[in-house]
Order: sequence, then C-alpha cells, then structure tokens
Amino acid sequence: MATVTHLVKIKKPTKAKHKEWIHAQQKYAACINLCIARILNGDSLSSSNVEAELNSSIKNEAIRKAKRAVADYKQGPAKKVPTFKSRVPISINNQNWDTKCVKGRWYVGFVVDKKKKYLPVEENAFVTRYFSFFQQNITYEMKQVKNKATKKLVKKEVRVDKNRENRSTIQLLRKGSDWYFAIPIEISCEIRTFSIVPQTFIGVDVGLRHLAVISEPKSGKRQYFSGKEVGYIRRHFRSLRRSLGKKKALRAIKRLGHKENRWMQDYNRKLAKKIVDFALQFDRPVIKMEKLYNIRQTCKTMKKADRTIHSWAFYQLQRFIIQRAEKCNVRVIFVNPKYTSQECPKCHHIEKANRNKDVFHCMKCGHRDHADHNASKNIALSTSIAV
Ligand SMILES: [Zn+2]
Repeated sequence: MATVTHLVKIKKPTKAKHKEWIHAQQKYAACINLCIARILNGDSLSSSNVEAELNSSIKNEAIRKAKRAVADYKQGPAKKVPTFKSRVPISINNQNWDTKCVKGRWYVGFVVDKKKKYLPVEENAFVTRYFSFFQQNITYEMKQVKNKATKKLVKKEVRVDKNRENRSTIQLLRKGSDWYFAIPIEISCEIRTFSIVPQTFIGVDVGLRHLAVISEPKSGKRQYFSGKEVGYIRRHFRSLRRSLGKKKALRAIKRLGHKENRWMQDYNRKLAKKIVDFALQFDRPVIKMEKLYNIRQTCKTMKKADRTIHSWAFYQLQRFIIQRAEKCNVRVIFVNPKYTSQECPKCHHIEKANRNKDVFHCMKCGHRDHADHNASKNIALSTSIAV
C-alpha cells in the first residue's frame, strides 16, 4: 500500500474564517515550538500538562508533531533545533473531520475551534470519486465497554462510524489567501491510475560511487555520472579547512565552507540539467527517483562529517532535478527505495547477496550488471510509489 495526498480547495471562506484560521495556525505553531523546547528540556508531555488555547484534539496533534520533530532532529542530519513558522499546516485527526453531500455539493466538516463546521469545497475528480467514503456512516453495535464507575466490563450499544477508518489525519493549509485540505488516501501500489498514454520511465539512482546513474530500461540507454570529482574536491576543501583549523582562522574556515557549498550547488545544478536532458530524448518521459529515507544507511561506512554533507547534497540534487523537470514539463515520481539495489530485474529474485559492491549478480538466475545501473533500472521499473 502507498499513500497519496490530494489537495482539496475550500471555496472562498469569509474574512472572519480566514482570520480565525490564521490565528489558529499561529497558536498551533507556538504550541508546537513550546512543546519542542519542553521536550528538549526533559519534560514528558501529555495533553493534561500542556496549556494552549486550542481544541484538545488539535493540541494533541501539536504535541505529537513536536515529539516527531525532536525525534527527527535527534536522528537526522539537521543541525538546528526545528522551529515551526506560523504557516505550519494544522493537523486534524480522523475523529474531527468528515464529509457531507448536500444537494449534490460536497462539504468538509472539521473542528478547528469548538464546533464542527461544514464548508463547501471546490469539486474535482478526487472529491467526486472518494468523498462518499469519508462520510459519517453511523451504526449501533453491541460492544463490551468499561463502566467508568464500577470499572467492570458491560455490554452496551455503542455508536460506530464505519467510515472512520477510511479517514486519516488531514492538514488544513494556506497558500496565499486560499485554504486547502491535504487529504491522504491509501491506494494499492500500482501506477495504473496514471494514464493510458504510453510513457517512458527513466530511473535515477543517486549514490556515492556514482553520483547518479540514469537509465531507460526499454532502450537500454544509460548514463553514469562519477562521484570521483566531487569526492576529490571535498577532500581538497577538507584538507584546506584542516590546515586553517590549526591556525584557528575561524572566519576563513567559514568563508571556505560557503565557497564549498556554492561549488556543490553549482555542480548539482549542472548535473540536474544533464539528467533532465537525458530524459528529454524520450517520448513523454517520466523521471523516477528513490525517496531518500535510507541515505544514512547507504553511508554507514563513512565518516560522520562526510555523511551529513552527502545527505544534504543528495537532497539538493533531487530538488534541482525536480525544478529542472518542472521547467521542461517532465513529470517526477518518487518510488520506495526498498530492495532497489537487491532485486534482479530479470527474475525478480531479491537477496542481499545479489549485490556485492560494484557488481550485481543474481544468485538465482545468474543475471549480471553494474550494481548502480541495476538499481536505476529497478527504479525505472518500480510500481511502488512513495509519497
Ligand atoms: Zn535473477
């Protein structure tokens, strides 16, 4: 299963609503930031010890978000403690929103302050197709529930919303003066919903040995971009930094850092252009890349400083590819990175031993290829979309 998020625009809200939501966003962001500070301070938070002028469910979402942000900060490459701006989307959990159809028009009901209010949305294919699954569908069922006073289990008729599990947590977000809901849905992973027009899928694998390997499996065309030059330049900068470090020339070190970043940025931008140019030789190209969750694992063997530099450089490269592709009307899809380096594209056998450094050699059918090329091919052929 994969999750796909759809944006649904709220029909022009009143000025009062607009103000109210902006205010709620500010309070929400402030609450998250406060929670982050308290978590870093060693406090353990719960809804009862966090004070905020927010609906309790929204407050809980803020606490959850703060916890996640701190966890990401502690594990991830980010150097700074995260802070949230007042434009942060507000999370609304599945108990606090649903949909409703009145006279053929669709509404989303949601709780930001006190009472649930239903607002009309702009209809699109997603709304007409899926909104009926998000409506409240109440039935009454006999269930065992705990009696609060006696703490005994009793059988009781309870209200059950059968569609509740179809709904996940949505976000209320603003773009300029417009407001949207970002609604995630789970779909089975096949890309069949995309288009009937044939497209050409191009896989882009980013890595250390090769900064990027791109391939189009049908024609067999491929291109390798070596990571040697970047590695060389980085080492060069590092040794310069080291010699400055001995003299404690802090400003010079900083300047050198900026210079290195600019160099890397320039390099990535050029590389992104080459990758999109490669894609453009094909009919209706679609670029596929791995969602970079596991870049840290691929870099496990590296020194810590190199790892952080590399992971941001990879993200930057992907971002530039997206920007460049957008300019050229080329679509970009992210796929799940699981097994892309271990799977045999011929017989689909997955085994860790299939890959040994530079070489891919299938343990089952004997298929051989360059490991990075094999990965880019698997990315191009992958049907598992990551969002
Ligand atoms: Zn095989």
